[in-house]
Amino acid sequence: MPQVRALVITFWILIAGLAQGGEVSVDPGDNGADIVEDTTEDADSRSSEVAVAAEHLVDPAPAEAESPDVPLADAVTAAAGAAEPMMLLGTEVAPGTAQRLSWSATELFEGVPVSTPVLVINGAYPGPTLCLTAAVHGDELNGIEMVRRVMHDLSPGKVSGAVIGIPIVNVQGFRRGSRYLPDRRDLNRYFPGNPNGSAAARIAHSFFANVVSHCDALVDLHTGSFERANLPQIRADLRNPDVVTLTQGFGSMVILHSTPAVGTLRYAATRAGIPAVTLEAGGPSQLELNEVKHGVKGIETLVNTLGMMRKHRLWGDPEPVYYRSSWVRADNGGILLSDVSLGSSVRKGDLLGTITDPMNNARTEVRSPYAGRIIGMARNQVVMPGFAAFHVGIETDETPAEDVTGPAVSHTHDSGDYIDGMSE
Ligand SMILES: [Zn+2]
Repeated sequence: MPQVRALVITFWILIAGLAQGGEVSVDPGDNGADIVEDTTEDADSRSSEVAVAAEHLVDPAPAEAESPDVPLADAVTAAAGAAEPMMLLGTEVAPGTAQRLSWSATELFEGVPVSTPVLVINGAYPGPTLCLTAAVHGDELNGIEMVRRVMHDLSPGKVSGAVIGIPIVNVQGFRRGSRYLPDRRDLNRYFPGNPNGSAAARIAHSFFANVVSHCDALVDLHTGSFERANLPQIRADLRNPDVVTLTQGFGSMVILHSTPAVGTLRYAATRAGIPAVTLEAGGPSQLELNEVKHGVKGIETLVNTLGMMRKHRLWGDPEPVYYRSSWVRADNGGILLSDVSLGSSVRKGDLLGTITDPMNNARTEVRSPYAGRIIGMARNQVVMPGFAAFHVGIETDETPAEDVTGPAVSHTHDSGDYIDGMSE
């Protein structure tokens, strides 16, 4: 029952907040309506969106049977009792133990089974199940290392609840150093999947049904794409109160309101009643230690905030929440060299970078149309006119125009902010 699941996670945050002297805001209702407009489009255009639209992704089955039709009080009572064995991927994981399981999509590429590790820590005490997924895009390496560090820092005997970590969801892309599946489809446009659909839809369905359906909350780890890097940040649909509650657990991390594209893991999980956010940090194809540490600290703070572990200290003051953001594009082609860094604060009119034509030496400046902060940017490279170069989180005092609580929108309009594969 999605509602029960969301309430359970809210309950745990509430309890943890009380135990910590009220450091955690416990009224998600306060935060759900402050959204004016999402100008950040996450969609990835490299795969065939037409195919996705035609494929009819299947809505996931409601949450698994372990919490059947119980009212909240019963769910809480169950959570307050003894920890229970977890059944996952055909294996029973006893309370207070860690196991390495293996997930294979039911449909195999080229007839050869492809499996990937699923790390499970079932705590000695009852609590929520937090899932960490990484490398849904196979070239995004920072999240793989984050999952490894978080999982190996946790002691099953001290954990309340369970943590499921999947370091490499798209193992086929990972092996090839590619964002995509071998057929150039973007796996993160096919969730929750379809058992009778394309290879991507089948893989997505298998992963969603066998692993994700066991989660009470989910953090999907990503990086920028195509030689762009992101300031460590949480992307979340802040119209959803349960998601807002989840975002408040990460400590000092920038939070960006972002409506998930249809077919993303974040979109599908949230639709299934599993509050989900994306954690973006750094760029693809590299292991960036500072970004990894930042992400690990955020996740460990979340584990603490959820009341699942008392070892980690809470981390710092919250960072700003950006309800709006926009990309600044190159108007000329040439060599882009930046004058700002990730995290730089900028004023309207500030120089962000220069583009120099390598043939005629003509140099143009890229200036910020907004006051705000650089939350994503291209690495120095050769760009074409129209290339999205700098992502500015915009400071705004705008108040909510409407309470938008519907499902995530599909991005069919051209707002000028559509970025090819820019994030998740
Ligand atoms: Zn990604």
